[in-house]
Amino acid sequence: MNKHVLAADLGGTNLRMAVVDDTGTVIHRCRTKTPASGDYAEVVSRIAETAKQCLDAVEATASPTRLSLAIPSSVRPYDGMIVYSPAIPQLNGSRLADDVSQALRMPVTLENDANAAAVGENWLGASKDVRTSICITLGTGVGGGIILNGELYRGVDGTAAEIGHICIEPEGRKCGCGSRGCLEQYASATAIARMAEELLPEFPNSILHGDVSINAHSIYNAGKGGDDLALKTFRRMGYYLGIGLSGLVNLLNPEVIVIGGGASAGWDLFADEMRSELDKRAFQQPAERVKLLRAVLGDDAGILGAARLALNSTAVGTA
Ligand SMILES: [Zn+2]
Repeated sequence: MNKHVLAADLGGTNLRMAVVDDTGTVIHRCRTKTPASGDYAEVVSRIAETAKQCLDAVEATASPTRLSLAIPSSVRPYDGMIVYSPAIPQLNGSRLADDVSQALRMPVTLENDANAAAVGENWLGASKDVRTSICITLGTGVGGGIILNGELYRGVDGTAAEIGHICIEPEGRKCGCGSRGCLEQYASATAIARMAEELLPEFPNSILHGDVSINAHSIYNAGKGGDDLALKTFRRMGYYLGIGLSGLVNLLNPEVIVIGGGASAGWDLFADEMRSELDKRAFQQPAERVKLLRAVLGDDAGILGAARLALNSTAVGTA
């Protein structure tokens, strides 16, 4: 008999939930919108209601006994307090696991979404069976997760692996975190669009001049068609990613770095530049050792990672 858990990925826009078994097979999915208002109680009730729908739907075949939530926030490992939640600010300072647990009458645990994605890729994806790996998610922002010797590394307060906020350009662009020149400002989907717009005056013949809503996807398509502006934008992104990775490689000597998230779809336009910049800057031994791989689990990385954490957990939960 397989064990089952409820696993969820709470994003700024959507709440996706699934019943997952201990082989990583998703047996049922539920999806709803994340409440747009600033009301914390509404987030709690939306999660609990969606969980109940999911549980009702699988009632005949599975009995999940806990809920594992991936959230875009830093979670303090020792007491479950959410210490930083820029995408869903109403979670700041809350104990979401306790509150959902009360509403649902089931143990609930929390994990940062990029950490969960790293666990998911390490369980069933690109870094499967690798002991020391890093996962970087290139989306609207840039997230990171670190697996050290088979264990997720959270740091003392749960804020570790904020790879998107490593400085790679000291006097660079201001970042939402308060610093400037962070990797996120040069390697996220948002940054790709901004960098392309900044380059428009240098490339009067670029096809992107006719693009009213430039985004990472349209820039990628232009690049595939040979557009010089688009190609330069992705090379620039790869250059900055390579600088960031060289620091990580020198620091942690990982076996694999997995790169996922929507903007990783531009892989063939930035990977060469990323690799060559890494090789120029990192120590030779760890640079030769590390494999740079595309993520394989797509949007499911966070849910599967959350499921894995709950399946492996021996704790009785926070209820
Ligand atoms: Zn930052």
